[in-house]
Amino acid sequence: MNKGGKLIIFSAPSGSGKTTIVRHLLDKFDGLAFSVSACTRKRREGEIDGRDYYFLDTDLFNEKIENNEFVEYEEVYPGNFYGTLKSEIDRLWDMGKHVLFDIDVEGGLNIKKQYMDKALSVFVKPASIEVLKERLHNRSTETPEQLEVRLNKAVSELRYENQFDCILINADLKMAFTEAETLVSNFTGLESKD
Ligand code: 5GP
Repeated sequence: MNKGGKLIIFSAPSGSGKTTIVRHLLDKFDGLAFSVSACTRKRREGEIDGRDYYFLDTDLFNEKIENNEFVEYEEVYPGNFYGTLKSEIDRLWDMGKHVLFDIDVEGGLNIKKQYMDKALSVFVKPASIEVLKERLHNRSTETPEQLEVRLNKAVSELRYENQFDCILINADLKMAFTEAETLVSNFTGLESKD
């Protein structure tokens, strides 16, 4: 295991743009790798098992909970479980990478609590609730009911920002990219590709 490996956690309400920022960072830093979570929700079109998520059925997910294989897991949306496997962090550390997370607010705080100084927790904050609502509406991957659930959860998650190591305001995407790159460089010592 790579004892020097660090964890960088990007958490945010759904619709804050954190996934866009995480993808940008993966392009910019060879030394980072994405933590693929396990989940029980259905695979969306274009998603690949093992790249986007490890898509597990509920029985297998429960088996892994019982075997204590998760660093953290959560029922993020009713009936849909998501979690980070210990084996995933080890897999990426063994490759000599620092691990980048795109997970929800509670999961992010949970990982930070366990790894402390080895982890940097970043809260990505949307410019406003209106912007967040608009992003969620435009995504159209959800039914109106699912959208409502996501919106309610997003609004309640905004209350957690002060529990994170830093807050990244995503009002201007270019500025958010630059700020995120600086956070990663300062925390890991990695240099970004130009
Ligand atoms: P989606 O269904 O849109 O892919 O993701 C739903 C939510 O689950 C997102 O907010 C995402 O960040 C979160 N999520 C993804 N992986 C994990 C995980 O391993 N643990 C937790 N707690 N949340 C996760």
